[in-house]
Amino acid sequence: MADLAKPQNTIAILQKYNFSFQKKFGQNFLIDSRVLDKIVAAAGITKEDFVLEIGPGIGTMTQYLCESAREVTAVEIDKHLIPILADTLSEYHNVEVIQEDILKMDIKGLAEAKNHGNPIKVVANLPYYITTPIIMELFESQVPIDSITIMVQKEVADRMQVGPGTKDYGALSLAVQYYAKPEIVANVPPNCFMPRPKVGSAVIRLTRHQKVPVQVKCEKFLFQIIRASFNQRRKTLVNGLYNSPEITVEKEQVVKALEQMGLSSNIRGEALTLEQFASLSNLLL
Ligand code: SAM
Repeated sequence: MADLAKPQNTIAILQKYNFSFQKKFGQNFLIDSRVLDKIVAAAGITKEDFVLEIGPGIGTMTQYLCESAREVTAVEIDKHLIPILADTLSEYHNVEVIQEDILKMDIKGLAEAKNHGNPIKVVANLPYYITTPIIMELFESQVPIDSITIMVQKEVADRMQVGPGTKDYGALSLAVQYYAKPEIVANVPPNCFMPRPKVGSAVIRLTRHQKVPVQVKCEKFLFQIIRASFNQRRKTLVNGLYNSPEITVEKEQVVKALEQMGLSSNIRGEALTLEQFASLSNLLL
């Protein structure tokens, strides 16, 4: 099968099937073999691995994954891509394509069926509109995950990786870092895609922690506190928590907890580390 990372081969297959790009599905197909090699290498895929690919498109990355993995399941929402995938992946016998919205799938059930419930590797060139929901779903729904290696908007990759005191730091940084170790492995310019996106992209690997880095009495409450602290970025943490409809705390309680932690009552959420958010949530529960 022709290497779809060559632009002329991608164009040929799109013309053969008279395919029209659907903006609503964030369709920007990779046409750079070096980027594809980097993604597969960063994910550390071996012949032992079961890989879930989200959004295979015309199967460009899927071909690379099939070469390296034991078994691949690729979940694609766009029904017009299914006959194309049957064609471009016809030589591989270790792949199953499922037409479904990944956000509606039972991924835990899939990991159970395909990998006996052992940790799976997720690889995706993600449509930007589902980046945050799918990452949170993968971490929160107890899917056994080894790592998630994904192409996302550069700005989103930065948000996942940064620590306190920067403008990109927020609820996404804390949620990702609670569950995993984030590492940006490549920056990818728009000319590596067809059609070209308006913004730069980056590949980020999220390696799931064996053990969460902080101990909390209740995870749900920790994330409620984090969300409330960043909902009103320009307010102090005390006011942000007090005004949140999600939690019920008195201002004095928050001031007292901050005092116990040696922090000022004027502090903003963006200055707190994950460890400090964990201590605060434990003190307020
Ligand atoms: N992996 C291909 C590549 O790298 O060339 C395509 C990447 S393209 C950025 C994103 C793909 O995800 C598209 O094929 C799109 O149709 C698919 N997609 C979008 N939303 C989806 C969803 N909710 N569930 C599954 N696939 C989705």
